[in-house]
Amino acid sequence: MPRTTPPTLPRGHQLALLVAALCGAGGLALLAWALASRSLDGATRAAFTTAGSGLVASALLSWWLVRQVQVLRALASEAQAAAQRASTQLSATLDILPDGLAIYDADDRLVLCNAQYREVNTGTAMSLEYGTRFEDVLRRAAQSGHIVAARPDVDSWLARRMARHRAPDLPEVQEVDGDRWMQITERLTEGGGVVVLRTDITDTVHKERVLKQALHHAERAERSLREAMNAMPAGLDIYDENDRLVLCNDQMARLRPHLPVADSLGKTYEELLRAGLRHGIPEEASGQEELWLAHELAIRGHRPGPEVRHYPNGAWMHMHESRTPSGMTVCVRLDISDLIEQRHKVETARQESQRTRQLLERAVEALPVGIEIFDEQDRLVLYNQQLSRMYPYMNYAEHLGKGFADILRHSVERGLIPSAQGREEAWIAERLSEHGSRTSTLVQRLADGRWINIYETRTPENYVVAVRLDITDLIEQRQALESAQEAALQARQLLQDAVESLPEGFALFDADDRLVVCNAQYRRLYPISAPLIVPGNTFEQIARYGAERGQYLDAVGNEEAWITQRVADHRAANHAVLQRLPEGRWLQADERRTPQGGIAGVRTDVTQLVRKEQELAAANAKLALLSTTDGVTGIGNRRRFDERLAAEWMRCGRHHLPLALILVDIDHFKLYNDHNGHLAGDECLRRVAQLLQGNIRRADEVAARYGGEEFVLLLPDTPLAEAVTVAQRCMENLRGAALPHPHSPTAPIVTLSLGVASTVPRPEARPDTLVQAADAALYRAKSAGRNRLEVFEEAAPE
Ligand code: GH3
Ligand code: MG
Ligand code: MG
Repeated sequence: MPRTTPPTLPRGHQLALLVAALCGAGGLALLAWALASRSLDGATRAAFTTAGSGLVASALLSWWLVRQVQVLRALASEAQAAAQRASTQLSATLDILPDGLAIYDADDRLVLCNAQYREVNTGTAMSLEYGTRFEDVLRRAAQSGHIVAARPDVDSWLARRMARHRAPDLPEVQEVDGDRWMQITERLTEGGGVVVLRTDITDTVHKERVLKQALHHAERAERSLREAMNAMPAGLDIYDENDRLVLCNDQMARLRPHLPVADSLGKTYEELLRAGLRHGIPEEASGQEELWLAHELAIRGHRPGPEVRHYPNGAWMHMHESRTPSGMTVCVRLDISDLIEQRHKVETARQESQRTRQLLERAVEALPVGIEIFDEQDRLVLYNQQLSRMYPYMNYAEHLGKGFADILRHSVERGLIPSAQGREEAWIAERLSEHGSRTSTLVQRLADGRWINIYETRTPENYVVAVRLDITDLIEQRQALESAQEAALQARQLLQDAVESLPEGFALFDADDRLVVCNAQYRRLYPISAPLIVPGNTFEQIARYGAERGQYLDAVGNEEAWITQRVADHRAANHAVLQRLPEGRWLQADERRTPQGGIAGVRTDVTQLVRKEQELAAANAKLALLSTTDGVTGIGNRRRFDERLAAEWMRCGRHHLPLALILVDIDHFKLYNDHNGHLAGDECLRRVAQLLQGNIRRADEVAARYGGEEFVLLLPDTPLAEAVTVAQRCMENLRGAALPHPHSPTAPIVTLSLGVASTVPRPEARPDTLVQAADAALYRAKSAGRNRLEVFEEAAPE
């Protein structure tokens, strides 16, 4: 260690020593003078002695103090040198640290730092003197331009950094130029200083970055994988090497609605199968769950191939299982219900089409016609047995696959087609040109005399379907028919002639009610309908035409009903019908069914007959009226009364209606006759009769002369009270007429006595009982003095 020379005293110390020496000398002198001087009193001497001692003591003290200071300074200087040495040694030691380290004192001045600390960035070195303030160190570092965050604005970065420095908390990460990264850690020391540690964490940051990126990629990959898995139409399960479910996609989760995803993850395959079984999945395991489970577990991992399972909800699942090289098991399930359904449909359609084809083939065979089909190149591809039978000399089995032209030539060369003889080539060319393009049928005469009808048509696929029909019978039949028609025509003419010769109108309708034939007289009888009386028209058409144009007087105003009735009568064809025509003409229509189901009708003009009949009927009616009319009074006579009483008795009895009867007798009529003469008596009878007739309101009521001067009123559906009213009205009317009868003992005018009765007729009783009842009442009226009415009270039934 080098020897240190004592430092020279500072000027202050030298001055202090000088002052102390002066004070010491002065003090000694003062002390000596005070002790020596006799002139001084005691107190003054004491004071000077004290002052001199004080000065000496002060000088001694100052010297001692300066000495001490010198010692201390020497010590301090030594210590400082030692500290400097220690610091230099420490600094050299710290330089081997990989991190930058600096120590700042309580005044924030740099006390110590190593070389790394001086490097803001690799390859740089800041010269830092100890004692430099932290803020200045920082500013220089910032201004070096290496601190990335400080580049835009050094001052504001400094402010932020200083703030953190004053209250250090978490380590700070600083980016320096060249993508290098430093971690600054600051710790407060006990003495109020700060230790700054600057660690190069570039590698860590880079590694972290790479790690983060890798993590990011891994996350993205996982997300993509998950999305991809969920985007798959199939359900996907992944089991780890211990057969525990580690991953499943949404589709698979949906297939396991009985078990939430959270519950299924981590479960073993067996546990999942058991959970399914508890919910009846799969269907085929039902009833033998343990057996099924054992089998499933046995083949786990080496399932022979994909399987299709039917779920209870009706879905069809395609299941596939495979092992990954790392021992994981991947299960895929795809809902193939649509596929299965489609396959079913396709299968059904295939079977249907096969059946249709069989049916078609059978139909083609069953057809009574020969069928041949040529493909788009005009080659024979199909024929039926009918065709072989139709052309026995042709071997169609040999012709199958041959062209139509070859087949034609084969026939023509053997002279099978008479119409081709002599012009074979032209005929073949003609036939070929029209093959499949004909719209009409072709009739071919064969050499054996048969007639074949050929119909050819081209399908949309450009195939030609030819239908051949042996129409020999038909042609023969047609010929027979033609001759029969000729004969029929002649017969018809004969019939027409015969029909025309009839004096009556005649018409024949067929089974469809269409006019077949009629004579001219028939048309003459119906001049209005005549335009429609034409063969082919129906009876109803003709009748309607006439009815709507006033041909039939009975139809006017109710044409539809009349036509319906007329057509019904016509079809019944079992009774004669009279028809009233304009101009007073009458026709009788007689219609009869023919054995063939037609209707033959005869019309006879019966106008004369009907007129005579009408005259006769009018005469008869007059006679009938006369026979029931009273000659004297002109009202109904006893016969009419009896007839009507019998009829109304029955009718009212049937309907349980009351039937009333009023018997009327003129009082003292004999006296009237006696005094006024018989003729006047007759006149009186007429007046009374008219008056009674006037009281009849309804058509079914009857007023009749019962005999002599007695009359009767028959009132159907009239209870007793109403009959009494009618009787009273009759009396009042006669009273009003006031026919004089001066000789009557009852009154000076003609009066009446009336007996009234009413009953609901019983079937077993006779009508006479009602007359007797009224008569009994009349008798009572007479007995009681006349000019009154009496009522017959019916005895209460026992
Ligand atoms: P009563 O009050 O009791 O009925 O007395 P009456 O006189 O009316 O009865 P009676 O039976 O005694 O007489 C009926 C008379 O009616 C007798 C007859 O001369 C008269 N007579 C009967 N028929 C006719 C006729 O047709 N013409 C006329 N003028 N008189 C007739
Ligand atoms: Mg009488
Ligand atoms: Mg009388």
